[in-house]
Amino acid sequence: MPRSHFSSEPTTQIGGMLNLRLIEPVTVVEDSQLAGEIPYMATEDSSEQLENLASGIRRCVACRLHESRRLAVPGEGPAKAEIVVLGEGPGGKEDATGRPFVGPAGRFLDNLLQNQGIARDRLFITNCVKCRPPENRTPRRDELKTCTSLWLERQLELISPRIIVLLGQVAARQMLGETATVSKLHGTMLERDGRSYFVTYHPAAALRFDWIAATLREDFEALGKLLAHAPHSP
Ligand code: URA
Repeated sequence: MPRSHFSSEPTTQIGGMLNLRLIEPVTVVEDSQLAGEIPYMATEDSSEQLENLASGIRRCVACRLHESRRLAVPGEGPAKAEIVVLGEGPGGKEDATGRPFVGPAGRFLDNLLQNQGIARDRLFITNCVKCRPPENRTPRRDELKTCTSLWLERQLELISPRIIVLLGQVAARQMLGETATVSKLHGTMLERDGRSYFVTYHPAAALRFDWIAATLREDFEALGKLLAHAPHSP
């Protein structure tokens, strides 16, 4: 059953081009229309386009996760970030603040970055799903499909990062396919469909298992060396 992806606010923009006037009764928009090719307006710079995506995300009602969220979490960082860090989905603190990785897992991530001299504000940090799954459960396949095709893919197209850091199995499988296994791939760079990925464990797992914390530190050391050769974003 087709339905609108947006709450009924007056106008919403995706990628700066598609203006959906949502006046009651709510306009019906098919998934296929939104997930199709939407050209970006040449007059808008990529920061504005990214902000347009973020405001669409904040109003998105495309899957059941919007029903229980407090705030959607679009992600944050420069539009020209050379590195995107991709997690699974917002937790409690993220849901309350609208910002990614600001809870306990985020503090561990900040520490990993700090140890390598990587400034957090050099990265674009986001998640596969933009709304917190109830009880922090794993996002379901349909939620991942809807959210990544509507939002994450467009964010990645705009940012066009040099490296996408995949934190944990959900992000790894979402981007690399269902057979991707973090235990086999972690610490390595992979090329897939013209993108470069660096796979590692999720920082939340490091809070539960010391061996994962140690492995994450080693992986980030390897990442730090790779990035030492990449020019910084302006
Ligand atoms: N875990 C995630 O995967 N993402 C966040 O933003 C916070 C915790």
